[in-house]
Amino acid sequence: MSEDPLSELPMRPDTEKVNLIGLPQAALENFFAGIGEKPFRARQMLQWIHQRNADDFDAMTDLSKGLRAKLGDSAVIRLPALLSEQASKDGTIKWLFESGAGQAVETVFIPELARGTLCISSQVGCALDCAFCATGAQGFNRNLSTAEIVGQVNYANRVLPSRPNGKPAVTNVVFMGMGEPLANYRNLLPALDLLLSDFSYGLSRRRITVSTSGIVPQIHKLGDDCNVSLAVSLHAPNDELRNYLVPINRIHPISELLDACWAYAAKRANRFITFEYVMLRNINDSIEHAHELANLLRDKPAKVNLIPFNPFSGNEFRRSDSKVISAFQAAMREQGIVSTTRKTRGDDISAACGQLAGKVSDRIRNRLSEKQTKVATA
Ligand code: SAH
Ligand code: SF4
Repeated sequence: MSEDPLSELPMRPDTEKVNLIGLPQAALENFFAGIGEKPFRARQMLQWIHQRNADDFDAMTDLSKGLRAKLGDSAVIRLPALLSEQASKDGTIKWLFESGAGQAVETVFIPELARGTLCISSQVGCALDCAFCATGAQGFNRNLSTAEIVGQVNYANRVLPSRPNGKPAVTNVVFMGMGEPLANYRNLLPALDLLLSDFSYGLSRRRITVSTSGIVPQIHKLGDDCNVSLAVSLHAPNDELRNYLVPINRIHPISELLDACWAYAAKRANRFITFEYVMLRNINDSIEHAHELANLLRDKPAKVNLIPFNPFSGNEFRRSDSKVISAFQAAMREQGIVSTTRKTRGDDISAACGQLAGKVSDRIRNRLSEKQTKVATA
C-alpha cells in the first residue's frame, strides 16, 4: 500500500470534484490542509487560476508531479461553458453561458478608453419581478455558485486582449447582469473576496459595484462584511409608484431603504451611493417626480444615474424622450443632486440594462399578458 492515503482514492467524476475557481483564499487553505498541504499552496493556486489563467494542473510547473496528480483526482478548474458570443458595433460583447436545465446567463463586456467594465450575472432569472425588467419576467430559476459568478470574470480576462499597460482586460466589475446579487448573498461574498484579493483579481472596492433592488437586511450585512460600491435601483420617488415598479418595496419601503443606504455610506467615509432610475415614459419621468426624488436625496451622499428604459420583446413600457430625460437631469442638478444619464451600450445585441434574459423566450412570452394587464391598470 502507498504511504499516501489520498493516492489510493478512486477517481471521481468531474461533477463531484471541487471547482477551485470558486474558492477564495481561506477555503483553498482548508482544501489544501485536507490533502496534507501547506497553506501557501492556496496563494499559489489563486495566482495560477486567476492571474496566469491555468485551467490544467499539469501546467502548474512549480507544483510537484505528485501534488498535481492528487489535485487532478479531487479537483477541477471549470470555466462556465460558452453557448454564444455576440459583438455590438459599439464594441460591447455579450456572452451567453450555459447554466443547466436549458437555461443560460449573460455577461456583458463594455470597453471604454479608461476602463473595461464587466457586467456579470448572479442568478439564473430573478424572483423580484420588477415590472420593467426582462430578467424579472422570466422568473427565478436558481442561484449561481461562486465559481459560476467569478468564472465570468475569469473567462473574460482569458479571451479578451490585455490592456495597453499589460493589465487584464477587466478593470471594473458591476453586478448588473441577471439576478439580484443580495438574494444570493452566500455565494456573492466569496466572489467579492476573490475579486478584491491581490492574489487573484486585486480590484479596489470602488471598482466593484453591487447593484440591488433594495434587500435592506443584506445591505446592512454587506456594509459590515465587504463594503464595495453600492448602487440601488430606486426607480420611483414615492412608495405608491415604487410598490408597483419594484415590488420588493412592499416589504422594504423607501424610508427603510434610504436609512440603510446612509448607514452603508457612513461606514465607508461617506462615499456616494448611486441611485439608478429607469426613465419610463409618462410613468416616473415628470418634473414633479424629479422634485420628489431630489427631496429624498438632498444633502445626502447620493448621485443619480438615469437609465433610459431598454425595451424588450412585447413589453408595454416606453423609453422617455431624450428631451424629457435631459429636463429631468437638469431639474435634479438645479436641486443640487449629482445626476448623470447612462449611455446605452450594446442595444443592437440586446445587451443593454434589463434586456438580459438568457434563452427563455417562451417563459417571457407566457408572462407578458400578465404584465400588460398590470400596466394597463396602473
Ligand atoms: N437586480 C439588481 C441588479 C441587476 S439589474 C438590481 O435590480 O439592481 C441592473 C439595473 O438595470 C437595475 O437598476 C435595473 O433596475 C435596471 N433595469 C432592469 N430592466 C431594465 C430595462 N428594461 N431598461 C433599463 N434598465 C433596466
Ligand atoms: Fe431582479 Fe433587478 Fe430585474 Fe428587479 S431589476 S427583476 S431585482 S434583476
